Amino acid sequence: MAKLTYRFHEGKKEWKDLLGGKGANLCEMKNLNLPVPNGFVISTEACRNYLIQETKSLSGSLVEEIIFQIKELEMLSSKTFGIGVNPLLLSVRSGAKYSMPGMMDTILNLGLNDKTVHALSKITGNRDFAFQCYCRLIQMFADVVYNVATTNFGTIPTETKTEAEWKVIITNYQKIFATMTGRKFPQDAYEQLLIAVEAVFSSWNNQRAKVYRRIHGIPDNLGTAVTIQQMVFGNYSAESGTGVMFTRNPATGEKGVYGEYLLQAQGEDIVAGIRTPESISGLQEAMPQVYDELTKIANQLEKHYCDMQDVEFTIEAGKLYMLQTRNGKRTPQAAVAIAYDLMTEGLISEETLIARIDEEMIGQLLHPTFTDEAKIETVIVRGLPASPGAAVGQIAFTAEAAKEMSRKGKKVILVRNETSPEDIEGMSVSEAIVTARGGMTSHAAVVARGMGVCCVVGCENLQVDEEKEMASFVDGILQTGDFISVDGSSGRIYLGKLTLNEAETSEVLEKILKICDDHAAMSVYGNAETPRDIKEALLKGAKGIGLARTEHMFFQADRLKMMRQLILAEGSRVDEALAYLKEKQKNDFRQIYQILGELPCTIRLLDPPLHEFLPQDRQELRGIAQELNLNSHSVIAKAKSLAEVNPMLGLRGVRLGIIRPEIYQMQVAAIIEAALEVSKEEEITVIPHIMIPLVGTIKEFSMAKDSCVEIINDLFEKTKMRLPFEIGTMIEIPRACLIANQLAQVADFFSFGTNDLTQLTYGYSRDDAHKFLPTYTHHEILPNDPFQHLDQEGVGELMRMASEMGKQEKKSLSVGVCGEVGGDPVSISFIQTLPVDYVSCSPYRIPNARLACAKAAI
Ligand code: PEP
Ligand code: MG
Repeated sequence: MAKLTYRFHEGKKEWKDLLGGKGANLCEMKNLNLPVPNGFVISTEACRNYLIQETKSLSGSLVEEIIFQIKELEMLSSKTFGIGVNPLLLSVRSGAKYSMPGMMDTILNLGLNDKTVHALSKITGNRDFAFQCYCRLIQMFADVVYNVATTNFGTIPTETKTEAEWKVIITNYQKIFATMTGRKFPQDAYEQLLIAVEAVFSSWNNQRAKVYRRIHGIPDNLGTAVTIQQMVFGNYSAESGTGVMFTRNPATGEKGVYGEYLLQAQGEDIVAGIRTPESISGLQEAMPQVYDELTKIANQLEKHYCDMQDVEFTIEAGKLYMLQTRNGKRTPQAAVAIAYDLMTEGLISEETLIARIDEEMIGQLLHPTFTDEAKIETVIVRGLPASPGAAVGQIAFTAEAAKEMSRKGKKVILVRNETSPEDIEGMSVSEAIVTARGGMTSHAAVVARGMGVCCVVGCENLQVDEEKEMASFVDGILQTGDFISVDGSSGRIYLGKLTLNEAETSEVLEKILKICDDHAAMSVYGNAETPRDIKEALLKGAKGIGLARTEHMFFQADRLKMMRQLILAEGSRVDEALAYLKEKQKNDFRQIYQILGELPCTIRLLDPPLHEFLPQDRQELRGIAQELNLNSHSVIAKAKSLAEVNPMLGLRGVRLGIIRPEIYQMQVAAIIEAALEVSKEEEITVIPHIMIPLVGTIKEFSMAKDSCVEIINDLFEKTKMRLPFEIGTMIEIPRACLIANQLAQVADFFSFGTNDLTQLTYGYSRDDAHKFLPTYTHHEILPNDPFQHLDQEGVGELMRMASEMGKQEKKSLSVGVCGEVGGDPVSISFIQTLPVDYVSCSPYRIPNARLACAKAAI
């Protein structure tokens, strides 16, 4: 039978599955010869064995191993457990593979009883300390094992007391214990220990742990390890204390140690947010030697782990002990800054840097902020900026209320004295979290940062009365439902609703995305046609424009009028409309080329059916007839003739180019004239890429292309100028995929329109699929919405076939993807497996697409 317990010397950091994160890292620190109190870890396997049993009792072999390990500890420490003049005291902590802050439970000072408390008092010469430790054990034992809130016991006395007084206090604690739990506080140290181990095992399945796992996608079947360690005491003397320290600032990523400590305090005091701790710089003054040793160790650990560390330490009578190290939780801003700095410091490779950035981080990084004018508004309170971002919402004072308000569609800001693990669900539905107490490493701060929720903690001037559901600040009171605005980056809270500004890409992120571009095999282009969006796409790092939808250029009032004239009139009125629209389009294309210079730009000729430019209502049609000075009967008749039963499958795309060739010809003339002019003016070579949509046969493509080429040649002749150009096709009909080799003979490039290709492959109308897709995904008929994440088996296979056939036929053929999935990271990792040169997506998705392309390539 496999061993179930491991001494710290026996484990290593890679064994997180078996020893949990905390246990594995303690082992690693022990093996680095750092000052770690001795101890051992009960494996996650032992926990799983325990949880699957119906009887829920510790196996005989586990108990035997635990006893053996305690004997070892007794030998190493020359102390004895539960008896004797020099009692061995232990801490029992949970530690799962993934860090679950505050989710599981800890018991300190195990081994104290009515006898050993006196021994401890004697050997330390500190009676108050010994009895305070005993009080804490009884409290924590009641809380963790029997779910009895520590508040039932009142606060542990901190002042000096006589032996007799302490006896009364302890008797009282034991009475409360017995009343609340229905049993006596165990005097046998082994009994205490085994009950504590069972309690930690069971806490894996408590409600708040389950909720945390659900929110963070942690599997339910992992179980937790249990770390049993010799106690060191931060509450031992004036030269004792406890603290947490990050090797870099977890909010900004700035280099340099960052953290908090409390003198004369034990373990949980800091994370619980009950006492507001001191900044770590205070320790430098108070205990310079300890501070130096601590920072040296922290930096050694950062180098060893190649990542920012979050360490927990205790100082007992001036001696430093390390109790934990782990990769520190951080804000997205900090994550990006730290990963970049570690790369420039040579600790991690570019590939590791890319692997450490994720899609969610980028999303959260592009957080909103408040506008400048908004900042003039009165600040009602200030606290510590625990998690950045900005949010506006209505106050809830309890997690329950937050959930209820959020269910009603309200934006909620959770305001509390401090948060605890029970509040997780309420926190996760909130736009921001505000607490009156606690520091940067309090529960609220840590959890909010993990969730990417804006958070301000330690608002000294805010008095929160959770029961009455109100809070007061210097100038007034706040009640449930009141609007406040929270700035998690500055720590300011404003009364009322401020205006939010969209966030901008950070400089460091931009540098990282440039590194991504170096590693990516595919380029990222933007889908945009207005000068504003094209500029935005370039700002976000697009290497060109992969899809300019020209129909979007016809919706301004004057152009729409002329478009309608083009559709509804005849003879010279049509020519008049064409001439007008050509000038407008030419102007648009001139602007586009001026912005893009020689960067590639693919312009798609008109795609939608013409009736999309007309109203359906007869009255409105009469109005149009009047405006255009046309006969209203013939206008209504024409509109009727254009109406289609199934417009997505009707007169659109290339078919329009065949039936009304003058439209494509007008567009092509505008594209080429603009390109010739800008090339000459700017002394550059603009290479227009003209794209014909919805192609299904060779002949229709060739016919449309030939008519475009004829216009282009005429123009070259007339202007005595030339320029290179390409005419390509969208691949968005399954038939086009099947004949891709033939298409490649006549088309200069391919661009997959996955929106239509998905629509036509499945036979799902992209405009109506929302009526059944949720049911389909709910019943797992489909794994997800194929318009969001590419259907790899079907549509993806068609794309594979088409791109391979196309490239085989013509090596120089460029192939892109410009449908919605071109900006979706999951789809991008599949597209990477095809011979595709670029993806093109809307500007706001470009940063994520750049990251996804790099991840797919490495
Ligand atoms: C497509 O079909 O994927 C595409 C990009 O074109 P549109 O969405 O304009 O039909
Ligand atoms: Mg399309």
